[in-house]
Amino acid sequence: FAPWTDPDQKPIIEFRNVTKTFGEFTAIHDLSLNIYEREFFALLGPSGCGKTTMMRMLAGFETISSGHIFLSGQDIGAIPPNKRPVNMMFQSYALFPHLSVWENIAFGLKRESRDRDQIAARVEEMLRLTRLTKFAKRKPHQISGGQRQRVALARSLAKAPKLLLLDEPLGALDRKLREETQFELMDIQEKTGTTFVIVTHDQEEAMTVASRIAVMDEGHLVQVATPAEIYEAPNSVYVADFIGDVNILQGRATPQGDGVSIDWAEGQPPIRAATDTTFSPGQACHFAVRPEKVTIDVERPDRPNTFRGKVIDIAYLGNISTYHVELAGGHRMKAQMVNARRLANRQITWEDEVWVGFTDTAGVVLEE
Ligand code: ATP
Repeated sequence: FAPWTDPDQKPIIEFRNVTKTFGEFTAIHDLSLNIYEREFFALLGPSGCGKTTMMRMLAGFETISSGHIFLSGQDIGAIPPNKRPVNMMFQSYALFPHLSVWENIAFGLKRESRDRDQIAARVEEMLRLTRLTKFAKRKPHQISGGQRQRVALARSLAKAPKLLLLDEPLGALDRKLREETQFELMDIQEKTGTTFVIVTHDQEEAMTVASRIAVMDEGHLVQVATPAEIYEAPNSVYVADFIGDVNILQGRATPQGDGVSIDWAEGQPPIRAATDTTFSPGQACHFAVRPEKVTIDVERPDRPNTFRGKVIDIAYLGNISTYHVELAGGHRMKAQMVNARRLANRQITWEDEVWVGFTDTAGVVLEE
């Protein structure tokens, strides 16, 4: 994976030691973060972690308790919401029901009192961009949910904001339409060059659309990185567990060669894992390994990190199957296999005695 290293990127948003309190409750703790021009940036985290509060401070709907937010280098603390070059698209879309698609998109432009030809040209451009030209005359109730979402997007982009904030923009769409719309959003973001900041609690969505993701936990940033970094090199058990499926094994690490040896379960051989982190002998740690990195075999493979167990459950998911394997001592490990590969191999089924294992670079060793 490629870490984020583009020296030409200029920050469009800078959070500097931002804290937000509601009475006694601190929703955002001393948070600092840069978001760069033309990024598609996702704020990701479980309900209540403070994502929406971050957006509302950016848009100006919420005051900042302490710290500063800079937009293109300018402190926005004192700028009223309607004077910020920021637009926010809400989950409800907030379209005007009595206005046509065309008029909905034109609404903000008319309020800016531009001349009519200019407005018409811009609306036509937005209709083309969002593939809505043939729906221009319809009212919001005469189009589908996905089309309404595109109208809201067209309206938000009509004034060419430098920054568009999207709060759970696809929440109202069903799964298939959601996936299609994610690709549309990415396409439109790229074509317009607008910086998009999206709030979502859906990790797959964040992974799909975003160039970088900030994972939040109770008002703190836990990790800010590209989707691949977050998935392949999570910096904590929290991130490893929040993004995708994972096996987390608890143990004690002891330095060995260019990695560690982890004692993790009585009667099981230690785990041998490569790591750049320095551990002191016997230091408590977690080892996190994705199920797709865990192999499952009938014959014992010739390598370390191989454990004997019995298949207790198989979840068939069409493209992949997940095998739940119970090891001696009651420990469990999930192994995933692509079904196209499985069918070519010998079938493994319930109650089968198998070997599960992984290479020494398959997982990450995390400090407790
Ligand atoms: P969700 O995904 O559910 O929208 P979120 O991550 O966007 O969650 P926020 O809406 O930012 O979370 O809320 C963060 C925390 O701040 C929550 O614990 C919430 O209860 C609290 N909070 C938000 N607004 C207020 C308010 N006006 N008064 C008091 N507490 C608030």
